[in-house]
Amino acid sequence: MEATILGTGSVYSKQNCASLIIDNNILVDIGPCVVKQLLKQNYDLRNIDTILIAHLHSDHILDFPTFIVNIEVLGINHKINIYAPKGTKDKFWNLLNLMYGDCFNDFVNSYLNFIDICDNKTFNVNNHVIIVKEVVHIGIESYGFIIDSKLGITGDASLCDGVKEIFRESEILICDCSLIKGDMYHMGIDNIIELLKNTKGKKAILTHFRDSTKEYVKNMNLDNVFIVEDGYKFDMEI
Ligand SMILES: [Zn+2]
Repeated sequence: MEATILGTGSVYSKQNCASLIIDNNILVDIGPCVVKQLLKQNYDLRNIDTILIAHLHSDHILDFPTFIVNIEVLGINHKINIYAPKGTKDKFWNLLNLMYGDCFNDFVNSYLNFIDICDNKTFNVNNHVIIVKEVVHIGIESYGFIIDSKLGITGDASLCDGVKEIFRESEILICDCSLIKGDMYHMGIDNIIELLKNTKGKKAILTHFRDSTKEYVKNMNLDNVFIVEDGYKFDMEI
């Protein structure tokens, strides 16, 4: 399994919004600049057949219309499964209609398949097993993911039971580290240090940074904590 971190920033950051792609076909979140980052890194958008959505805030979904415009022009011959919180289909339709009227209705009806997610929902994508974990991001239904019991993705989350389970069940963790001190919306580096203390040998790749948090955490030089830039690619054995 190969993964590329397409964005490492939060909604306030100069960096792309937090997102990643696994292999060349599973996209996790589709916030602003994700499509441009995929193109910069020479991904073929036509290979994407699965999109996981953590929650419905702007920094996780706003490139959806841009993605549709691109793949409609490129042409695809397979369906794209969008695993997302309940209500995503209506929200995505509204976004598209707001920007492009009904131009893409036929395409969306033909090629997109929206699947609701909930805590512990488990499904397969090619040879990968994906488990959904509900996390606490106050004010909105929000999820993280565990892939092949190797890669954990917290999505936007405070330190909650869902996050602890994602940490327990994974080896490499893509963690929301928006803050220096965590609150009820996002984790801080304080929470991540605490989690890593109890999880021997695990590695955390931090994301969803505010720029000031990123600079602060860089200077801490923590073991098993990786601060990477947009476009960072890594491999995991499965
Ligand atoms: Zn976010």
